[in-house]
Amino acid sequence: MQTSDYQRLDRAHHLHPFTDFKALGEEGSRIIERGKGVYIIDSEGNRILDGMAGLWCVNLGYGREELVEAATAQMRQLPYYNNFFKTTHPPAVKLAETLCRLAPPHINRVFFTGSGSEANDTVLRMVRRYWALKGQPEKQWVIGRENAYHGSTVAGLSLGGMAPMHEQGGPLVPKIAHVRQPYWFGEGRFGEGRSEGQDPEAFGRECAAALEAKILELGEENVAAFIAEPVQGAGGAIIPPASYWPAVKEVLAKYDILLVADEVICGFGRLGEWFGSVHYGLEPDLMPIAKGLSSGYLPIGGVLVGDRVADTLIEEGGEFFHGFTYSGHPTCAAVAQRNLELMEAEGVVERVRDDLGPYLAQRWQALAKHPLVGEARSLGLIGALELIDPANGERFDESLAVGNLCRDLCFASGLVMRSVGDTMIISPPLVITHAEIDGLVGKARAALDATLARLADTTTDQQEETLA
Ligand code: PMP
Repeated sequence: MQTSDYQRLDRAHHLHPFTDFKALGEEGSRIIERGKGVYIIDSEGNRILDGMAGLWCVNLGYGREELVEAATAQMRQLPYYNNFFKTTHPPAVKLAETLCRLAPPHINRVFFTGSGSEANDTVLRMVRRYWALKGQPEKQWVIGRENAYHGSTVAGLSLGGMAPMHEQGGPLVPKIAHVRQPYWFGEGRFGEGRSEGQDPEAFGRECAAALEAKILELGEENVAAFIAEPVQGAGGAIIPPASYWPAVKEVLAKYDILLVADEVICGFGRLGEWFGSVHYGLEPDLMPIAKGLSSGYLPIGGVLVGDRVADTLIEEGGEFFHGFTYSGHPTCAAVAQRNLELMEAEGVVERVRDDLGPYLAQRWQALAKHPLVGEARSLGLIGALELIDPANGERFDESLAVGNLCRDLCFASGLVMRSVGDTMIISPPLVITHAEIDGLVGKARAALDATLARLADTTTDQQEETLA
């Protein structure tokens, strides 16, 4: 089949996730056929550096035979069995042990799911159940953050703070509130009514104060948990000011509120530690995980459950009426286990912390001097560029869709870099080399130059024409 055949069938039968179906039908999908290392190859033979590791998940890169072998061996042995009705199987048991060994010491249990969204559904069930068992059933409110992403099931989208999703997904799960995000560049520097910009650390403390104010407004006796990504991923690779997490920790301790650290992106080395929570010194009660757990080779997620919650569920809970057909799926678990073994054997996490993260930071920072860039930030192997209008240093008008333009120019030049509004983000495989980081930064710079040239040359109307 040719590219056009795939596109025709895709248009006829396939509804893509997070996609304007009609617009994609008119444009036609890009067909990705193969992957090797940090590169993907499309049906036209273009080799593209995958600066997003798929969807923040292909941490060991493409084409790892060891993972293929792990899946094959397990499928021969036992392709599927469940973990219901007092049964289990070796892959689930081994993976549970490995995860709890890698997790912080107070975490010794895991509940498996098929995805990050299911992990967050599980979180909601667990925190409300925990407080009910503790004799405080009124503690039901969960506080999340605006512009957070926690998945696309009804619970996931309710916990998340994505306004466009909320507009389509309602009515949402009751008793979930949202507070402001620690997004200094977007809301501290350029926020409404702030002409001068605010000191980032003062801004971080102000965000933590907003959490406290929300707790007091809802009544501390009614608040079960706070859920947050250590670094917001889908919201735009938002790295909080240093003051933020210590101040949030204090607030949560003061009112005895559980902390849920959504590690779906930050877990498994992205920030240079096994979990983002370790980087920030958090001690979460619950950690939803997925994605990098299996380097995305097979779908698997879970919730790492701290002793405080686990002991209560075990000792006082009786049967927990919750679980999925694919909870701890043996083939997925075997691949995740092998993935973690390889990460340990190859010292992937330490390399991100000590070598690749600092190297990316230094190369990425050089892009901050580009006239289109208002801020370049990174931590471990996650990074963002904030695009601004060189004419006045302000954000572009949204209708210009400059981020989308830059993303399309990136793709055309052989780099996947995602846009969230006018924030360009990267999250490459953790096995990227220095030379490949140089290549990534070079392509990003070329795309910025091309974006600038396009903006200078064309009117808005012409831009839309060229992109169509
Ligand atoms: N939490 C976070 C922080 C995520 O980034 C995502 C996915 N991008 C999810 C949860 C949901 O995971 P999934 O798509 O596997 O359901």
